[in-house]
Amino acid sequence: MEKPTAWEKVLEHLKPRIDERDFETWFLGTKQRHETPEVLSVQVNSPLYASWISENFATQISEAAQLAGLGGREIRFGADGDPSSTIAAIKGPVVVKKRTGTLNTAYTFENFVTGNSNRLAHAAALRVAEKGTRQYNPLFICGGAGLGKTHLMQAIGHRRLSRQPGDKVIYVTSETFVNEVVLGVRFNKMESVRTRFRAADILLLDDVQFVIGKEVSENELFNTFNALYDDGHQIVFSSDVLPREIPGLNERLKSRFEGGLIVDVQPPELETRVAILRQKAEARQVTLEDDVAFFLALKIKTNVRQLAGYFERVAIFSEMRGEAISLDLAKEALKDVLRDAEQTTSPAEILRAVAAHWGLKPSELRAKTKKEQIVFPRQVAMYVLKESTSLSLPEIARLFADKHHTTVLHSIRKIAARREEDAEFNRLVAGFISQYR
Ligand code: ADP
Ligand code: MG
Repeated sequence: MEKPTAWEKVLEHLKPRIDERDFETWFLGTKQRHETPEVLSVQVNSPLYASWISENFATQISEAAQLAGLGGREIRFGADGDPSSTIAAIKGPVVVKKRTGTLNTAYTFENFVTGNSNRLAHAAALRVAEKGTRQYNPLFICGGAGLGKTHLMQAIGHRRLSRQPGDKVIYVTSETFVNEVVLGVRFNKMESVRTRFRAADILLLDDVQFVIGKEVSENELFNTFNALYDDGHQIVFSSDVLPREIPGLNERLKSRFEGGLIVDVQPPELETRVAILRQKAEARQVTLEDDVAFFLALKIKTNVRQLAGYFERVAIFSEMRGEAISLDLAKEALKDVLRDAEQTTSPAEILRAVAAHWGLKPSELRAKTKKEQIVFPRQVAMYVLKESTSLSLPEIARLFADKHHTTVLHSIRKIAARREEDAEFNRLVAGFISQYR
């Protein structure tokens, strides 16, 4: 067997740290180009991959590089062609080089889209960023992967730095925290590690669940927490689960975690997912039509990182093709990653098809009106949406002006009854459904 390259070793450690589909999308085609004691150079598919990878996965790659024994090295990503202009570098291990950790410039409040799923977390984050109130100390943000916890934590850091430029903001992932403690112990530098963390005006500790079970670090965390808390400094934690759900969490830390405010981030609703896509499109200065936005937002329901990743893939594909983003283009760009995913169900397509059958425009179907010739097709559209997509009743209701989900329910019942009575109508509706299922 051939010896794995340094990059392959990094990939091995990276894989468990990021979403599986992200890994497939962004890292499957990457290869080591060359390696020096200072620099590891990696080949990626296109210049845009280079920037996307270094903007979105820098922390994870740094950690993976650290674990692969590449401490201190710089990793450069470049595409074929003109390598000098496509290099995007990640300065190796945050823990060794940049002792305060880094804030991603894209992770600001301005770039954070709010909806019911994250409104409370957002509001609490704003509060601790602006003022630092004892009430919300610590702030504990919990929620599943890719739902914006890191984004919110870093937004707190940015905001605090802009309001109070003299404040010492420390953002660290838990792995970095643990690494620092381990290195501190090994090299007899624990005092300086302690001094550094305890100097924080605000400490942002991301994915705190990783500290739990690592005895020395856990103990250090407890002491750091107490020191900061007693001095009235703000602490913010994030975790994938609630404190009481963290396996093996001891009572004294649990009571600290629960002593302030706990907020959660939930998977965003359809509207919020669409708004996030619009925001990403705007940031990239590309046009994203509703049908494509809905198509993507319906495909990926539970992970914003993945949603953004898919959009990015579509945007890159459109750039490489020199074509605007359309539904067909999006489907083609994503055909590999969506191969095993659910079938395509775009509500916009459904609305268009149903409207067209009755010689209407989709906008007429969605408008507020009681006209007989519109009410009926609208009921059919609602029914087909329910049958062909995984939209909930309230989500369907929101596609129509001024409709309540009980109206949707009523429509669905009516159409279902009519299907039983009227064979020809039944065939028509079945056709709509099979087309989209
Ligand atoms: P987590 O830390 O919860 O796993 P992240 O904060 O890393 O998730 O978010 C994953 C990606 O999704 C990031 O690129 C982030 O900018 C984006 N994202 C998540 N939630 C939102 C939101 N509400 N608005 C805009 N972007 C978001
Ligand atoms: Mg995170």
